[in-house]
Amino acid sequence: MENQTKIAVVTGGSRGLGKDMAINIAKKGIDVILTYNNNKEEAQKVVKQIEEIGQKAVALQLNVAEIKSFDSFTENVKTALKNHFNSSKIDFLINNAGIGIHTAFTQTTEEQFDILSTIHLKGVVFLTQKMLLIMNDGGGVVNISSGLTRIALAGYSIYATMKGAIETLTKYQAKELGERKIRVNVVAPGAIETDFGNGTVRDNADVNAFIAANTALGRVGLPDDIGSVVAFLCTQDAKWVNAQRIEVSGGQMI
Ligand code: NDP
Repeated sequence: MENQTKIAVVTGGSRGLGKDMAINIAKKGIDVILTYNNNKEEAQKVVKQIEEIGQKAVALQLNVAEIKSFDSFTENVKTALKNHFNSSKIDFLINNAGIGIHTAFTQTTEEQFDILSTIHLKGVVFLTQKMLLIMNDGGGVVNISSGLTRIALAGYSIYATMKGAIETLTKYQAKELGERKIRVNVVAPGAIETDFGNGTVRDNADVNAFIAANTALGRVGLPDDIGSVVAFLCTQDAKWVNAQRIEVSGGQMI
């Protein structure tokens, strides 16, 4: 008999927003498979935090820029499902892993373009394809975009373009996956204090003050402003929320 507890895969769950998403999803009574790229130790700490909440968790290595590794990652997920969760299927996928590169449009190199597009678009497309093969009908996908698709801040043209693509992809995925009762939404965080983009929003006082002054609620975002919204989308309370872009920015630059 299969475990009835729902299971979410959160990419980039070792730090920042993904860590907060993983913890908040666990608080909803959902088990978590979180991924890390380099920071195994940090990921293991998140696993421990989730276990203290009372849910099961496993951390697996995944580089979302290595599309060819997705088959073996899927096998690792299947093994983890069997060994740790007494299950063969996941219920939710949170496409969160990402990087920031700040560069003027005219200075952007092909290499920068390729890494941004591979991580934020190609990786999301093909990882989602794989995860859908082992996702229960009635589950959900949450893609993570950015407030920068609505707000144009110099230096983020390619990053924001990839995030814009994810927002369009979300609608099409929702359209095609509706027949499996899989909901697909996209969460667009405003500027948040994490390691992202060398921790600029957190560590650069001028940037921090600029964003706070241009946000209706008067401050920069924190990871725990975002995780709870993603967790909500993984609950029955969000059962009729589908194909939506939900910006979570405190009213940044409105
Ligand atoms: P952090 O830099 O704090 O964390 C990044 C996470 O992604 C880590 O878990 C990291 O793993 C993982 N990661 C990075 N590169 C890869 C890769 N190639 N393959 C797999 N995993 C990878 O970033 P945030 O938490 O701030 O960002 C998370 C998401 O939120 C991103 O998609 C970002 O674009 C988006 N976002 C962030 C905003 C912000 O202001 N912070 C605003 C809007 C959107 P490891 O620890 O192992 O390196």
